[in-house]
Amino acid sequence: MALEKVDLVTPSGGGSTSKLVTGSFFQWPLDTSAEKSLAKNVPVPISEWYGFKVKVETSGKENLIGASLGDLEALAVELAEPRFRARQIYANLYRRRLGDWALFTDLAKPLREELGQRFAIYYPEAIQVFQSSDGTRRYLFEVAGGHRFESVFIPEEKRDTFCISTQVGCAVECLFCVTGKLPMRGNLSAAEIVGQLLALQQDRGTDSKRLNIVIMGMGEPLLNYDNVMKALRLMTDPLGMSISPRRITLSTSGIVPGLERLAHEDLIPNLAISLNATTDEVRDKLIPINRKWNIAALLEACRKFPLEPRQRITFEYVLIQEVNDTPEDALRLVQLLKGLKKKVNLIPLNADPWVALKTPSEERVLAFQKILLEHHLTAYIRRPRGNDVSAACGMLAGRNQPTGNDAPPPHLTP
Ligand code: SF4
Repeated sequence: MALEKVDLVTPSGGGSTSKLVTGSFFQWPLDTSAEKSLAKNVPVPISEWYGFKVKVETSGKENLIGASLGDLEALAVELAEPRFRARQIYANLYRRRLGDWALFTDLAKPLREELGQRFAIYYPEAIQVFQSSDGTRRYLFEVAGGHRFESVFIPEEKRDTFCISTQVGCAVECLFCVTGKLPMRGNLSAAEIVGQLLALQQDRGTDSKRLNIVIMGMGEPLLNYDNVMKALRLMTDPLGMSISPRRITLSTSGIVPGLERLAHEDLIPNLAISLNATTDEVRDKLIPINRKWNIAALLEACRKFPLEPRQRITFEYVLIQEVNDTPEDALRLVQLLKGLKKKVNLIPLNADPWVALKTPSEERVLAFQKILLEHHLTAYIRRPRGNDVSAACGMLAGRNQPTGNDAPPPHLTP
C-alpha cells in the first residue's frame, strides 16, 4: 500500500487543502467532507475516507500480505539474511501495519530496496464505505477480477467488532440472506481475509479499545477451510496481529465435516451455529445444506466440539414471522439444545427487498425470548446494527448503493 499526498476538501467545502499522511495510524474522526457526506449516507471515495489513497499494486509483484512467518523465514534464507529479519518484516507487516517499504527503517536500505523491487504490500481495495446513523460502517472491497465483498465495522462504547467475509458470494443459499442470492464467485485468499482486517484496523485508528472479530460476513467459512485457518493463524500470532482466539467467533451454517476438522485443530475460535429452525422440514427450506447434514447431525457435532470450561457455543436464530417464531418452536429449541453449553442469539429478520420473508412483531420476538428464559436458556435479542446501509446481519451483497433496492438480485449463473 502506498501512502501519498492527497487533496482533502475543507469542512466548509470552500476549496481544498493538502495533508500528508505518513504514518500507519491517524486520528478518527477525520475533519473532512467525508464526515458530512457520511452523515447523509452518501458513499465516500475511499481516498477521502482514509485521508490517503490506498493504491492497489498493479505491477504484478507478489503481495507479502498473507505470508506466514515461515514463508518469510524461507525468504530470509533465500536472500542470505539472518532469520531474525523475517521476524522484523513480519512485525512490520502485521503488528505495525506498515504499507511502504520506505517505512521499514529497521532494515538496511539495500534490503528495503531489494524487497521493494520484488514484493508489494497491499490490502483489498475498499472502493466505497457507507456509514449508518448508528455509527456502523459497511466497506465494499474489490479484488482482482473485479470481485466484490464486504466487511462491517460495528463500534460500541466498550469494544468494537469487525465482521469479515471469507467468500465472494455463497453457495449455501440461505433463504433469509442476500449473500445467498449472489452467484458464487469463489474463495477469498488468506491474504484477502486478513487484508480486510488490516484495512479496517487502519480506518479504526486506535488499537487501545477491545476488538472482537466475527467471521460472519459473506460466505461460509468452513467451505473455505484452508484459507480461513491460515488467516486465523495470522490473526492470532503473538508476533504479529496478536488477536486472542477468544475474541474471534467463526459462524457456520452447519458444515459438519468442517466442524469435525476444526474440533481437532490446535487453534480453535469461538463457535457460532446458524441454526434458525427447530425441525428439519423448515431448516431444509431455510438452509438447503440441512438436507445433507440435518439438525441431529449438526447438534451431534456440536456436542463433540471441544470447549474450555467457561466457553459456550452461540446458536444464532433468525426469527422469521410465521416460519420459525411460534411458541412451539421456542419449546422445541429448548429441547434440542438440552445438555449443550450454549447461549442463543435471537435475530429478528433484517428486511431486504431481495428476501421474500417477514420480520416478526416485537411482541412475537419478546414472547419467543420469554419462553427460552423461562426454561433457563440464556437468550439475547440482537439489536440490528447498520441496517439503514444494508450492513446488518444477512444484508451483505456487495451492493454499491447505501441500501438494498428493488432491482432483482444478479442471475445465479456465473
Ligand atoms: S447466511 Fe451465511 S451461509 Fe447462509 S447464504 Fe448467507 S453467507 Fe451463506
